[in-house]
Amino acid sequence: MAEPTNGPATRTLHGTGIGRGIAVGTVLRMPDPLPEPDETPSTLTPDAEKDRARASLAATAVVIRHRGEHTSGSAKDVLEAQAYMAEDPALIDDVAVRIDGGATAERAVFEAFAAFRDLLVSMGGYMGERATDLDDVSQRVVADLRGVPAPGVPDPDHPFVLVARDLAPADTALLDLDKVLALVTSDGGPTSHTAILAREKSIVAIVGVTDALGLADGTEVVVDAGAGTVGVSPSDEERAAALSRADDLKATRKAATGPGRLADGTLIPLLANLGSADGAADALARGAEGVGLFRTEFLFLDAASAPTVEEQKAQYVRLLEAFAGKKVVVRALDAGADKPLSFLNDAPEGNPALGLRGLRALRANEPILRDQLAALAAADAETDAEVWVMAPMVATVEEARYFTDLAHEAGLKTAGVMVEVPSSALLADRILAHADFASIGTNDLTQYTLAADRLLGSVASLQDPWHPAVLKLVGEVGAAGHVSGKPVGICGEAAADPLLAVVLVGLGATTLSMSPSALADVRAELLHFTLDDARRFADLALSTDSADGARAAVTAAAAAAERTSA
Ligand code: PEP
Ligand code: MG
Repeated sequence: MAEPTNGPATRTLHGTGIGRGIAVGTVLRMPDPLPEPDETPSTLTPDAEKDRARASLAATAVVIRHRGEHTSGSAKDVLEAQAYMAEDPALIDDVAVRIDGGATAERAVFEAFAAFRDLLVSMGGYMGERATDLDDVSQRVVADLRGVPAPGVPDPDHPFVLVARDLAPADTALLDLDKVLALVTSDGGPTSHTAILAREKSIVAIVGVTDALGLADGTEVVVDAGAGTVGVSPSDEERAAALSRADDLKATRKAATGPGRLADGTLIPLLANLGSADGAADALARGAEGVGLFRTEFLFLDAASAPTVEEQKAQYVRLLEAFAGKKVVVRALDAGADKPLSFLNDAPEGNPALGLRGLRALRANEPILRDQLAALAAADAETDAEVWVMAPMVATVEEARYFTDLAHEAGLKTAGVMVEVPSSALLADRILAHADFASIGTNDLTQYTLAADRLLGSVASLQDPWHPAVLKLVGEVGAAGHVSGKPVGICGEAAADPLLAVVLVGLGATTLSMSPSALADVRAELLHFTLDDARRFADLALSTDSADGARAAVTAAAAAAERTSA
């Protein structure tokens, strides 16, 4: 039953909006997770409990695999991995041992998965992130044992706004995009799984809404991602205004085509971030003017040994052929922390984000770096794209010189560096004396500026590229680019936030690179503002003392500028 909707909105909840969409609808919450199975000893024989456990594990694997067959892309891979988790012989043995110790099948499954989960978490990085997937499988097996529905996305026969703590990959695979009007989560930051999914599928979403779980089913809400607000029980006027803004946004988005440009005609090429040539056709269909970040390490995450020159060349040729005549910025292998590559660095490190990663790991394995540059130069020679190469995690001027010299020597004409460490931003003028261009990785730059591990939920609120300290560093690089006449791109998630993208241009960014799904929103947003507006917004953001302050100040200024020009 909906709350009354004709009075003024009773309250507004705040979080981090993903994109600019607006949706109006009624809330449906994800069911609460199942309670922990109690420790009361089993009244059945161990063999009977083992049969129950084995049957439920097998049934869960079948259900998950079946779901995987109806999805594609990363969701399919995650579901396949989850099915294997339910069939893992070590895990099944552990369940049996716990049953022999007197546990029920429910309790044994719960404990065995929890132990495995703790192991993954202690491994950190990519493995640690898989812990949520394991929790999800555990819940599904326990639900099967209890004969209750598996927790997960509700499936009513009407559209709804999904409110959840956070979404597990298996949930996201199930989302019916015709019914889910918007996502609101209490946990997660702008780089969480939910946020990535929302960007990928262009779903209106707000993450990190602390009070979201207090919303009752059936409550009407206005979800405004641009403003990062959830308006609860809107008045008739508020609902009508929101629906009309949603229509306007859709119309502007549809009308915005062609190369990225500001309202005054200043060109800001819009490029795609890709991890494999598979995404090329989609990126081009969405109007990508080239590739601003090709994450080569994604090609070799599972490799036990370094890929050969031939293997690499084949991958690069595929990508370059798809982008013939266009710019393609290829990043040298970025190993470490969230992207472990065992052949570059598998030493345990106390602080992997501050360890032997990025260019440091490549330099410690110089033959691998030389092979990669040779493979890229060979692919470049055979194709017609405009190839640029850049190094990740450059912290010193000397590193910039080392990498660009090596790349030029290998025959690559345009060699630059990523600015992801504050030291590089502060000395950008000297870095650009050697590098042909700079590309700012705002994900890592934010992590290092705010000293907040980008993989750690407990500090996710600090991982906000709107922070004026981060923007000040971006401004340093922009200014150095302007003086030296060298291009400064942005390739972190910040470029996918439409209004922040305008601010980044105001700070001196000359190109923006993002997940292809974000291109349309950013293209439409740029068209609203001139370079003078962008510079004014940048000054405004820099004058604040927090990320929220910067976002609020620029949002208000942008709304005023749009009204004036309307
Ligand atoms: C970044 O750090 O902003 C970036 C683009 O690189 P990655 O996210 O791959 O570390
Ligand atoms: Mg990075």
